[in-house]
Amino acid sequence: MEKTGLFTVRSAYNLALTLKNLDTQQSSSASPSGERKIWSLVWGGKKLCRDALPTRRCKFRRGLQLEDRCPICNGDVETSHHATVVCPPARGLWEAMRQHWPLPDKSKFAYTGRDWLQLLLECSPAPQRDLIKLVLWRAWTMHNNITHQSGPTGILDSVHFLLSMQSTLSEVHQGDTEGTAWTPPEEVWTKLNVDGSFVAQTGQAGVGVVARNSQGKVIFTAWQELTRCSDAAEADANACTNGLRLAVQLSPGKVILETDCVRIARALQAEEECRVVQVKRESNSVANELAQLARRIKQCVVWLDEAPACVAHLLENDFIDTA
Ligand SMILES: [Zn+2]
Repeated sequence: MEKTGLFTVRSAYNLALTLKNLDTQQSSSASPSGERKIWSLVWGGKKLCRDALPTRRCKFRRGLQLEDRCPICNGDVETSHHATVVCPPARGLWEAMRQHWPLPDKSKFAYTGRDWLQLLLECSPAPQRDLIKLVLWRAWTMHNNITHQSGPTGILDSVHFLLSMQSTLSEVHQGDTEGTAWTPPEEVWTKLNVDGSFVAQTGQAGVGVVARNSQGKVIFTAWQELTRCSDAAEADANACTNGLRLAVQLSPGKVILETDCVRIARALQAEEECRVVQVKRESNSVANELAQLARRIKQCVVWLDEAPACVAHLLENDFIDTA
């Protein structure tokens, strides 16, 4: 999160990405450690489980605070459970979020002892567990914002934040539909991988293109420095148009264009003779390397049936992965 406690789309996006990456690690290793990482990454959930969040109760016990009542409602003792579930702002947030998310019934949030949260999480299905954690984390943030008079304190702010975070998260997940490995096209199709490379500090940019057939054989490679380019999306757009132009000249037949730029993939609607697919950066490594080469050596080059040495191992890797 941003230091100010204010949320931005960027921080939501970054968190969503991190959550997603941890998620992937978790599912691939099939161990619970990934989930634990998410938990402690988001906000030290283990502390909540041990009732060790820096609440007044906790500080009072350690002699750091004279008063253990909640400063917001001035009623109950400020424990982790109180701050994240019972205190009026938290209760309001849970109620509001129940309108949007399939969260467990209120009765499931009763304080049953120090392991209340562990029990609650254990008997909730995995997707619901993540939502519970997000709301708990947001409730605690809101509680702190109110007591420390910092950051957004309104329930609606928090609802908006959580919803935008979830939609970002699902957008990030949608990007997963194409795997990470490069796959050869079907027969008669040419697969064109394109990528742009852009360095904001220097304005240097390049594009890289590689066209391969169903046997993984290189039809052509091309790389070009871009002299006037204002951002990464423009470099990617250039890579697409340059790649398509060359494909029309050099590889008759149907073309699949693969880019790791979401915006471009969405903007270009598939036509009869051309399919556009958004892929992960990992499966676009040859084009990516060529784009960087173009930026480094400031060239505009097209090679037929061949690829430069700097991508030989990447081409091989792509094909080994599909074998
Ligand atoms: Zn309270």
